[in-house]
Amino acid sequence: MDEIAMISFGYFEKQLLDAVTMRTEQAFSARISWKEGFLDLGDYYDPSRRQYDGNRILKVIDERFGVSKGKTIGLLSIDLFIPILTFIYGQAFLNGRSCIASNYRLSNERYGLLPDETLMHNRFIKEIIHELGHTYGLIHCSHPDCVMRSSTYVEDIDQKGEDFCPNCKSNLIHFPE
Ligand SMILES: [Zn+2]
Ligand SMILES: [Zn+2]
Repeated sequence: MDEIAMISFGYFEKQLLDAVTMRTEQAFSARISWKEGFLDLGDYYDPSRRQYDGNRILKVIDERFGVSKGKTIGLLSIDLFIPILTFIYGQAFLNGRSCIASNYRLSNERYGLLPDETLMHNRFIKEIIHELGHTYGLIHCSHPDCVMRSSTYVEDIDQKGEDFCPNCKSNLIHFPE
């Protein structure tokens, strides 16, 4: 069975962690392990953008925390960017070992709307499964419900499901035994 190491950089409430564990386990038929990670995130802060460099954080998490047999995801609560985009929800090495996801832009409050914790959790779970999907070799998909659809806005995340379409499901490249 595949192993997915989840490393939290920052505080996430237990209810969220439990939901993430259960639904990621289902999506990939994988065993999930948790660890707290420590990184001086200030090293990756870009003062001119007032955001954090997603590519550099992904690289350092892969180097320092990447597990040898399986996939690794770093969970963050900071505003991430890559040079060509205003912001990103997450980043992954395609068919690689590691990915990251941040819930920074996933809460309703961020957009002046009433808090909805369940909605925020669902968005985060979809983004986590999406980024892990990239590490399992999946590219973006145009199927309307598929979790591998790319999302520019949180509304896009809300419109897609948290499962893979049949095509993506069959293309998941599992870690060799
Ligand atoms: Zn993607
Ligand atoms: Zn798909």
